[in-house]
Amino acid sequence: MRKPLIAGNWKLHKTIPEALDLIEALKKDLADKTDIEIVVAPVFTALVPVAQAVKSSNIALAAQNCYCENSGAFTGEVSPALLKDAGCSHVIVGHSERRQLFGENDELINRKLKAVLAEDLIPIFCIGETLEEREKDEMMDVLKRQVTVGLNGLSETEMFKVVVAYEPVWAIGTGKVASTDQAQEAHAFVRGLLAGLFSTPVAEQVRILYGGSVKPDNVDGLMAQTDIDGTLVGGASLKAADFIRIARFE
Ligand code: 13P
Repeated sequence: MRKPLIAGNWKLHKTIPEALDLIEALKKDLADKTDIEIVVAPVFTALVPVAQAVKSSNIALAAQNCYCENSGAFTGEVSPALLKDAGCSHVIVGHSERRQLFGENDELINRKLKAVLAEDLIPIFCIGETLEEREKDEMMDVLKRQVTVGLNGLSETEMFKVVVAYEPVWAIGTGKVASTDQAQEAHAFVRGLLAGLFSTPVAEQVRILYGGSVKPDNVDGLMAQTDIDGTLVGGASLKAADFIRIARFE
């Protein structure tokens, strides 16, 4: 049985006081939710104060990105070891905004995943096709490439720790959520890839989150799909009431 995981990716939003306000609201209204995992990913500058605020709560902390080396002359980068030091347990790796706006490719993402796992942090590994790729009927080829190269060289033991997030780029921030059938089809395909590349137990245990315009009014349908084990929420994670409702999916 896969434990549902509901994650909020705050992207480039919220000052430290705003982040702490949101966390207080989530702590208060989600304290009873122990049947799911709840993760929030604030900006780097808010990680330490938020880490203190979520201590001994049921909310875990993720960074939105990291570099693949732990120290050295890499101006402007942050390493998995330092994220752990700041209180993170999870790191989002390979988000489509990193791929599209900051030129991250599958090979770099693979190195980041390995660096995150080496620090015993949990990577939330993002994949997903663009609208152009979907229209050209390349969705499966793209997902296969992202999964095969992104997860290359990981051991089965490491794979059990990985969380995959399927985020079709055309659904991110557009209000255009994938239909439940589209999402289920992609998730089942990715699970099949994991079975082929690793093993049936890996495919059965790895959680695959859906991301892209998840809202209170569409979460229930998504979470009812066999292969959808949680959501990675952008815009709707910035409002306490919306994120709380999403975490209370039915
Ligand atoms: P939205 O929920 O704003 O579409 O963003 C999804 C996302 O990119 C989460 O990582």
